[in-house]
Amino acid sequence: MNIKYSVVSLFLKKSSKQECHEVLSKWNTYYAGLTEKHQESFVVRTLLFLNNTDFKAKEGFELTTEMKLVISSAFVQITFGLSQDVLTIFNTIFVSPTSYSYAGSNVFYNGDVNTATQRVNFSWPAVEEGFVIADDSLNIAIHEFSHCLIIENAKKSYLARTFNENDLNEWKALAAKKIPLIREGNYKIFRDYGGTNLMELFATTLETFFEQPHEFYSYAPTFYRMTAKVLKQDPRNKKNPK
Ligand SMILES: [Zn+2]
Repeated sequence: MNIKYSVVSLFLKKSSKQECHEVLSKWNTYYAGLTEKHQESFVVRTLLFLNNTDFKAKEGFELTTEMKLVISSAFVQITFGLSQDVLTIFNTIFVSPTSYSYAGSNVFYNGDVNTATQRVNFSWPAVEEGFVIADDSLNIAIHEFSHCLIIENAKKSYLARTFNENDLNEWKALAAKKIPLIREGNYKIFRDYGGTNLMELFATTLETFFEQPHEFYSYAPTFYRMTAKVLKQDPRNKKNPK
């Protein structure tokens, strides 16, 4: 564990760490596959994220610690190779018991990043399904947190950025070539929604990267390796992804 997390760990209750370990072992297959050493820092990062996030729930809905831990773990998973460990703009997470819509609209969401309210919204059943079915490249929590990372990264000063600028630009250049192929139905590793734009392709790519890394690598090794370079980890190595 690096020095920062060793220090943070000193301030966390042993019982909280144990609870976090038990919840993540049950819910998060990425976590369950890690070495004990990586699990220790993953737990610290999960509790750090949870403690730095303002979790809110729709009135009448009981948002449990277990749910908060599961949601937090998606963020830790995608940033496990990076130094960013909390969200600074989108540090309010609002959880609903069902899919939801905005006033005046009949479009229903399972999750969204609202740049106006600076909140991340989730429907708990959708988050749950994302983790229960861990190999279908659908994980709403990974998806929405991917958006948060890209938006926050763009707002940071050059030296403070989460992603290496050259790596991210190379990723975008490769990704831009995939979009027309996805739209034509000639690029089957990602769902069609990835063809919407670069922002959605990044989020969709991360869902596939974490849920079907071997399939992704077989289908598109160059694009897979570029994604691994951006995230500084390779989830094909279950025990030591970074
Ligand atoms: Zn999206």
